[in-house]
Amino acid sequence: MLKLLFLSTPVGPLGSGVGGGVELTLFNLAKEMNRRGHQVKIVAPQYSSLPNITCQEIPGVWQDMVQNSTRDAPIILLQNSVLANMWNFAKEVENDYDLIVNFAFDWLPLYLTPFFKRTIAHLISMGSTTNAIDSMIHQVAKSFPYTIGIHTQEQAKTFPFLENFYILGNGIDISLYEFCDNPSNDFSWIGRISPEKGLEDAILAAKDANVKLKVFGKIQDIEYWKNIQADYSNADFQYEGFFSTEKLQEKIRTSKAILVTPKWVEAFGNVIIESLACGVPVIAYKRGGPAALVKHGETGFLVTPDSVNELVYAINNIGEINRERCRHQAEINYSLQVLGDRFEKWMLMLNKINKSK
Ligand code: UDP
Repeated sequence: MLKLLFLSTPVGPLGSGVGGGVELTLFNLAKEMNRRGHQVKIVAPQYSSLPNITCQEIPGVWQDMVQNSTRDAPIILLQNSVLANMWNFAKEVENDYDLIVNFAFDWLPLYLTPFFKRTIAHLISMGSTTNAIDSMIHQVAKSFPYTIGIHTQEQAKTFPFLENFYILGNGIDISLYEFCDNPSNDFSWIGRISPEKGLEDAILAAKDANVKLKVFGKIQDIEYWKNIQADYSNADFQYEGFFSTEKLQEKIRTSKAILVTPKWVEAFGNVIIESLACGVPVIAYKRGGPAALVKHGETGFLVTPDSVNELVYAINNIGEINRERCRHQAEINYSLQVLGDRFEKWMLMLNKINKSK
């Protein structure tokens, strides 16, 4: 039995959607590790809420997202930073735990690694963004082998010289997603509404293919969203809102397919496995995590990145995809069991190293 301290993302409270896929990953992992008899304590920004799990809520100013930073962006820590406050808390209680797991994509926890007695496992949930964070990831990987965990090989390629990392994949609680075999004619797009997610391409493709697009997710970049509304006022898309997992699956499972059109290299793509779990095929750009998740011609289509024409072609041919196969892929490859097996192995290995220190 491991006593685990999970430190959440500092960009906003759990449940707000600001953290993107890492919120769901942390929740699923906490649930699964508890189920396996481990003890998990979650430390997260104040006002965090997770179904049936209590968090140690920490006040402080949220950290800015780094997704759209320039390569040479400096490290910024604001006064009363929640990130610093969360790690102060971790330092105070570290002796009570076997292992600390960091879910923040940020410089500070990486930098602090050698100053802790306990081993820190870092879940790196994005591809390479800034030089400062990259070099700290490399440094930690070198000094503390296998403490850097990532989701996919495609994500690893964005850190060209990274060594000693551990590939973890991802998974969800499939039982929470209901299979739907009689879809409507609508398509969906799910994600944080922010430039790197490329919503405009999905809107254009839906327009050209003459289908309706439903949009789900947190509006993160208001300017970007306003521009989209102005630029594509003649397209048939509708913003549905941001929903809990339970409600989200209820709303997306009737989709004919989802469109995944990111402009950046996604580390994984939780929305893909959530859709597959409902039996909803996925049309995605062949880049980053999605390229590893969608089985081309079997559970959706992978198209040339940034090609709206190819998206349209895929939309027109979506009838070829068998929805049962989509659900089956999620059950086999992306269940909580699979997620738990990989993460548990990683954590037990790191705990062993910790004990032998
Ligand atoms: N999501 C949600 N409610 C919504 C729309 C999205 O909870 O209405 C969640 C979704 O379940 C997924 C996350 O937002 O876990 C998006 O994660 P993904 O890995 O696809 O992308 P990221 O935001 O991490 O780049």
